[in-house]
Amino acid sequence: MKVYKFGGASVKDAWGIRNLEKIVSAEKDNLIIVVSAFGKTTNALERVLKTWLSGDKLYKDQLEDIYSYHLSVAEDLFPSVNSGKSKIDVSFARLEEYLATSKKGDYDFEYDQVVSYGEIWSTILVAEFLKISGLSMEWIDIRGNLITDDRFRDADILWNESSARIKSVFNFNGTRFYVTQGFIGSTIAGQTTTLGREGSDYTAALLANMLDAEIVVVWKDVPGLLNADPKWLSDASRLEEVSYREAVEMTFSGAKVIHPKTIKPLHNKNIPLYVKSFLAPEQKGTIIKSETILKHGLPVFIKKENQIMLSIIPKDFSFAMGENLSRIFYLFVQNGIKVNVVEASAVSIDVCIDDDRKKVESVINDLKAEFTTVYNENVEMLSIRHYTPEAINRITKDREMLLEQRTRNSVRFVVRKIASTR
Ligand code: ASP
Ligand code: MG
Repeated sequence: MKVYKFGGASVKDAWGIRNLEKIVSAEKDNLIIVVSAFGKTTNALERVLKTWLSGDKLYKDQLEDIYSYHLSVAEDLFPSVNSGKSKIDVSFARLEEYLATSKKGDYDFEYDQVVSYGEIWSTILVAEFLKISGLSMEWIDIRGNLITDDRFRDADILWNESSARIKSVFNFNGTRFYVTQGFIGSTIAGQTTTLGREGSDYTAALLANMLDAEIVVVWKDVPGLLNADPKWLSDASRLEEVSYREAVEMTFSGAKVIHPKTIKPLHNKNIPLYVKSFLAPEQKGTIIKSETILKHGLPVFIKKENQIMLSIIPKDFSFAMGENLSRIFYLFVQNGIKVNVVEASAVSIDVCIDDDRKKVESVINDLKAEFTTVYNENVEMLSIRHYTPEAINRITKDREMLLEQRTRNSVRFVVRKIASTR
């Protein structure tokens, strides 16, 4: 059994869905097809949510645009009378009804109730198209099967509960293909949750782990994992084989090709992950698997933008390490902040974190009784795995260095692009 995951870029139009059908029907094995929302639908639903929460009726027009988009894909794919179209209509009507009648609750909760529809619509249309193409196929609503806690917008999997349900639902009795949603799940009580932006890769990895898949393939619009983002360094080239460890380090440092949480469930069951291009499915792509030697010997460059460097100094001039350190990190975890770099001196701790303003303000507030905080905004974190002096020079020239950390295999810089007076 294999798991294929198709992201938004691969299913952004009717051509993409026809292409998906070609790719999956070439597969001889049993297959679970995990699909993200079409194109940029998740972003569009985030805008609907914002408008609706602000009390502005304009959300109806924004939702109408999303509906027209899905309808135009359906009209291209299907004959005029087709259950795919009516299922989409029913589902849009359900969301409209929710927005018209529900009392507005907590942001994270509402986010999951509204934004999760993108994956429902995409899977309905993909499944319907596979069905009319003659594939033996079943559509599964992953909610009710992939069970999470109630940390809305960043839910954690309840492993035992989910694993039992997933095994009994995806049993391949009488069908060779399943189509299901990435990114979403539900609480035990049945409330919809999401796993964090770009979380469909993670769904694919979870299903693969629970069902002991042979491999996972993530279909992308790039030829595989590259040694840099080609929009940043235009001579970026494909990595043929990457170890799980290498892949985790790359995604943690900000490489965007796969979601950082994807690797662990695959590593734990030793399931290889292929990153391949849906535009050239016959090409090899990148294989991520257990220990392998990086053959190419190329440095790997990773950039994470929109960072804040926060310096935290105990007000009583006590040492930063020890109890202060555990207290500070406890507050980061409490506020849902992931720390990207940490550097400690005697009486100061510097951390680099994502610039999520609400969370940053909240942690600064929690820290202020005991600590003085100073921060630099608009900074970037640059990492190089397998660095060379030329590689370092290439990306750090013209940048103001705020922090540098080096180990045998990697070097990490927190730098500032433009001088700021703050
Ligand atoms: N559609 C969701 C997002 O755009 C999940 C995903 O694409 O993996 O974040
Ligand atoms: Mg997406």
